[in-house]
Amino acid sequence: MDSKYTECLELNEIEQFILQQSSERFDTSAISAHLDSCSRCKQVFSELRIFYNILFDELKKPVTNQVFHLIKNLHSDDITVAGVLLKPQLLDEMPGERHFTSQIVFYESGTDEGEETVTINPDEVFIRVIKSNKTDKTTLYLSAENRELCSDIIFRLPEHHISFYSDEQGKIEIGKFDIRDLDSRAVMIVSQR
Ligand SMILES: [Zn+2]
Repeated sequence: MDSKYTECLELNEIEQFILQQSSERFDTSAISAHLDSCSRCKQVFSELRIFYNILFDELKKPVTNQVFHLIKNLHSDDITVAGVLLKPQLLDEMPGERHFTSQIVFYESGTDEGEETVTINPDEVFIRVIKSNKTDKTTLYLSAENRELCSDIIFRLPEHHISFYSDEQGKIEIGKFDIRDLDSRAVMIVSQR
């Protein structure tokens, strides 16, 4: 067996697997084998797959009430999902420190306001937000073209006076937190690299 995936998978590898994007450096069967043997990666895989199922429904705009009811019926017992876009602010910055303003681009239980599609510019950060309705705990999955904005970073909400640390894959556990409180906020990202 390919020893490439004896270590845990990168978030983007799991995403590519879900999206079935193949490339030369991407070994589907090895990823599949790793997912079978690793509960940690399997958990991330399950969460992201649910997220993508909802995202694809969301992107079929205009979103009808039927879609929301369908999503609610399928997932409301388990999770709440949202997409948050961080748009860069031109402020005086310390090295490795970036300022953004957050915007919720979709929210599972919202109405049909929002973007027709989510496009992410190279200087922006997109956050997939998944909240477990069982534990009430929220997890953020950051992604950005610029890895310095999402891998090994400190995520600061200055108005809340709180900071969270991401892992290498851009995953941040933020505990009990109202997702809607991530809208129109100042966000600071500090690279730890
Ligand atoms: Zn793993």
